[in-house]
Formats: sequence, structure tokens, C-alpha cells
Amino acid sequence: QDLGSTNGTFVDGTAIDTATLRSGATIRLGSFLFKFLSAGSVESQYHETVYSALTRDALTGTMNKRYLLETLRRAMATAIRQKNPVAIVMIDIDHFKGINDTYGHLVGDEVLREFGRRVQEGCREDDLLARYGGEEFCLLLSATDAAEARDVAERCRQAVDGRPFETTAGPLKITASFGFACLDLDANESGLDLIQRADEQLYHAKRSGRNQVHGA
Ligand code: GH3
Ligand code: MG
Ligand code: MG
Repeated sequence: QDLGSTNGTFVDGTAIDTATLRSGATIRLGSFLFKFLSAGSVESQYHETVYSALTRDALTGTMNKRYLLETLRRAMATAIRQKNPVAIVMIDIDHFKGINDTYGHLVGDEVLREFGRRVQEGCREDDLLARYGGEEFCLLLSATDAAEARDVAERCRQAVDGRPFETTAGPLKITASFGFACLDLDANESGLDLIQRADEQLYHAKRSGRNQVHGA
């Protein structure tokens, strides 16, 4: 329904007052063109597939690095404007090379998939988990201060460590190290600066014996 707009609302190129949309209809408002797709249509499934392929890691189903960096950029802009904290947690599986070397790459892949699920268990609904690299993952925690970031990371650590991973090679004990950092609202730092600081904390967690959370 057009609610008396100055420039009109066009459905499939025709100005309308009210119209019933069919799947595939185009809607033009000023210089914006929208396409309406009903949820079950083949074309909307196609768009979902393409969107998923562009934003998710194929092996683990967690978000990919590109999606993470783009979301982080926007989250930081919001955080600075609203003076809200943002935290990054870098996560690296301990001695993962040993899993591949002992049980083979396919079992390593199984561990990576289960690892994503376990970390997700320790997270809150709106925390963003992404696969950052091989066996490195990253959590973006919005509106989260250092104490909360430590809690989330610790819950994730326990979700991994708490019970063995069931794999085709049998149950495996898996642990991971966690490093977190909070955005310094006054430092004018970039997303990569923040990730770098979390990575330094991860390095300390590794150096201090692994299977632990470090951060500030
Ligand atoms: P650390 O505790 O210091 O982190 O030791 P690590 O063995 O986990 O560290 P390292 O970086 O030496 O090993 C990472 C391994 O992750 C090496 C690489 O072969 C493996 N890897 C990276 N991507 C994948 C993948 O997609 N699948 C499998 N199976 N292995 C992967
Ligand atoms: Mg690594
Ligand atoms: Mg590792």
C-alpha cells in the first residue's frame, strides 16, 4: 500500500495505491528496487544457497572470515557511537596437528565440525562465531565487557573440554586455548588491531600451558 508517497510506489513498473504481491514481483521506491520472493520459492532458496556459500565456512557451517570482518567493522562503528563495549575472542585448538597426524585428515575434519558445535554451545544467541583460519576460530561479542567476555570464553572452553569428541576413530579428548580483548573506545583502533590484541592473549594462553582463557 502506498501511503501517499511523493514519488509513488511501483509494482512491476506500474504505479499502485494497493497491490497484492506475487512471488517474483519487483517493487520500486524512489531509487530502490526490491524483489519479492515468497519463502518457499525456488529462487529464494537459490538466493539463500548463494548467500550461505558467500558467508559461511563450508566445513563447519560457522560464519567465514569475510563475514566476520565485515560484521566487526559495523559492530565497532556502532560500539563507538553508543559507547558500548565490544570483545573479540580468538580460539585455537590445542595440538591439532597431532590429531591429523595420528588419525588422518578426515577425522581432523570431524573434530573441526564438532568443535564449531561445542563452541556454539557456550555462546549466547547473538554471539557471532566464525572460522578464522585452519583450526582457528573467532568470536565477536557485541555489548560485552571484559568480565562477560571471560565468562563466555570460559563456558566455551568447558564445552570443548567437558566431554570427549565422538569421532569415527573413537572418543577423542580435545582442548583449545582462548585469548580475548575488548575494544578500546578511545584508541581509534581498527578491527584487525583488536583481533591482533586478542591473538596476543591467545599466544599467552598457549605459552601458559594451553586449555585456558587469557585476556584483559
Ligand atoms: P598448538 O597447540 O600450538 O595450536 O598446536 P597445533 O598442532 O594445533 O598447531 P599447528 O598450527 O601446528 O597445526 C594446525 C594444523 O591444522 C595444521 C593443519 O594441517 C591443520 N588444519 C588446518 N586446516 C585444516 C582442515 O581444514 N582440516 C584438517 N583436518 N586439518 C586442518
Ligand atoms: Mg593455529
Ligand atoms: Mg592449534
